[in-house]
Amino acid sequence: MEKICIKGMNHEELQTLCIEAGETKFRGGQLFEWLYRHGISSFDSMSNINKSFREHLNEHFILHTLTVENSLPSEEDKSVKILFRTRDDHFIETVSMVENNRHTVCLSSQAGCVLDCHFCATGKLGLKRNLSTGEIVDQLIYVRENTDQPITNVVFMGMGEPFHNYDNVLNASDIFHSPKGFNLASTRITISTAGLLPQINKYIKEKRRYKLAISLNASNDKVRTKIMPINKKWSINDLIKSGKEYSNQKKRLIMFEYVLLKGINDSEEDALELARLLQGIPCKINLIPYNEIEGKYQRPDEATITKFSEILHNYRDEYRVLVRWSKGQDIAAGCGQLAGQKK
Ligand code: SF4
Repeated sequence: MEKICIKGMNHEELQTLCIEAGETKFRGGQLFEWLYRHGISSFDSMSNINKSFREHLNEHFILHTLTVENSLPSEEDKSVKILFRTRDDHFIETVSMVENNRHTVCLSSQAGCVLDCHFCATGKLGLKRNLSTGEIVDQLIYVRENTDQPITNVVFMGMGEPFHNYDNVLNASDIFHSPKGFNLASTRITISTAGLLPQINKYIKEKRRYKLAISLNASNDKVRTKIMPINKKWSINDLIKSGKEYSNQKKRLIMFEYVLLKGINDSEEDALELARLLQGIPCKINLIPYNEIEGKYQRPDEATITKFSEILHNYRDEYRVLVRWSKGQDIAAGCGQLAGQKK
């Protein structure tokens, strides 16, 4: 009989598994803690679980979903890029970024991506498949086990469109948030979408309160459609309307991300148009200077980036503007650079 992967199962699923094996429901809670709080690497380390049940688990379940192919530390900062291989031989990447007391882990939600945003290396791969909840959780367990600094933030900004893998991303987030799992506050978990409107609207109705970011990258539909084909389906105005709805419903600011591309979306007119577009929307704006990959697009110079940010700042003071300089440039670990390829 083929073994089933236990990693990624939630509390209720583990309880059911225990009852079906003739154990008490209570054991499900113990399993949950061993799997996620302790991140065990062998069923035999579960000291409060009886031997015969451990043997049953060894016989029927798999504990690991990923193997590490490569771990690449940056020489410029404290970033590390990890290349994982899935059991069916796909490659995915995860980035750990440490700055002062903040340790952010950028997770992948899919092997590849179907959306083909033109500035993104992952988009060039096409979609291989969605990652399981266990594969998402195992990325974080690996980083936790292999760094000294406690993880403070998780962002779904690695490979893939998280809302194309809606259930598994939210199930993994629930494990990260659980006090018996990783115990991260909901404000420490951010899901970033390229703008899947139906899923954004579905998420707004969820009880879960993880932070939401929308990758906007343009101030009008003409430019956005040129760099993000998904914009043909759902327009900027629809996304902004839903972003406002998210901020109002969840009492949490929506974040709009804006990758600055030289000569494409970085002019003073673009900044003014964006400022007008976001007028009256409770939000944060993250400006991300483009990380160059293969020549088609370039990063604007620093003066242009500063000017763009100032125009937004000065236009109104109701939203926060941050310039996010990507970490791990020397290891191609910045936003849009993850290609999941074995070099
Ligand atoms: S930016 Fe995100 S959504 Fe767009 S192609 Fe890359 S991974 Fe996919």
